[in-house]
Amino acid sequence: MFKIITNSPEQTSLLGEKIAKLIKDNLVICLEGDLGAGKTLFTQGFCQALNVKETVTSPTFNLMNVYEGDKRIYHFDLYRLENENDLYEIGFYEYTDVEDEIALIEWPDRFIDCMPDDYLHLKIERTSIDSQREITVILHGEKYKNLYEEMKKTCQF
Ligand code: ADP
Ligand code: MG
Repeated sequence: MFKIITNSPEQTSLLGEKIAKLIKDNLVICLEGDLGAGKTLFTQGFCQALNVKETVTSPTFNLMNVYEGDKRIYHFDLYRLENENDLYEIGFYEYTDVEDEIALIEWPDRFIDCMPDDYLHLKIERTSIDSQREITVILHGEKYKNLYEEMKKTCQF
């Protein structure tokens, strides 16, 4: 794993943009962090880089949003899911196992054992400085290893 420090909301959004631009085919990202950590800001930057035109918000009430940009993006929020069975119902297993689409999963820690074999795990945490966030990047599986290495080189501020 490695860490990235962002010093403003804009940098967290920019991090989302940078990662989106590194994607080759598909990607599954788990985005962990408390309320106000910066998950939505990150997602907005990410979607902007893929030319999503609609407004990007957390899918807290509908559990999943789909955005059409240069690629299709499935945006999940697992916070309100009651049990593992609900994951089937919202199509989680189908949409996290696609060839050239993208899945972004908020609150993965609610069902961490149900995550796919390959994904990038980003944990966003506050620091003692108000406008700063510490983002820990963890690689699961080997599929996104190149992207992970590329991020390590190009995503520091
Ligand atoms: P979440 O979706 O995780 O609940 P949001 O992205 O909606 O969080 O909100 C993050 C909040 O934290 C915003 O109000 C933003 O201005 C503030 N903030 C301050 N510093 C940062 C930073 N370095 N990165 C991201 N957000 C930050
Ligand atoms: Mg949010």
